[in-house]
Amino acid sequence: MAVSALTPTPLIGTVETILVESRVVACDGGDGPLGHPRVWLRIEAQQIFCPYCSRLFVLKPGTGGETH
Ligand SMILES: [Zn+2]
Repeated sequence: MAVSALTPTPLIGTVETILVESRVVACDGGDGPLGHPRVWLRIEAQQIFCPYCSRLFVLKPGTGGETH
């Protein structure tokens, strides 16, 4: 019985969510097809999408370094 190679396939519509502890994050898309030139993103509220790879950066609760 042959074992077929399972190739990881990104699901369309699936967004990778990344928890960060800083309002300023750098994204280069990581390795693979989503890689792109590094950009710096600033989280104004609680989250921001990378315009290149559509990854979602979410600020961890309780972080951000800015007092209310
Ligand atoms: Zn990105």
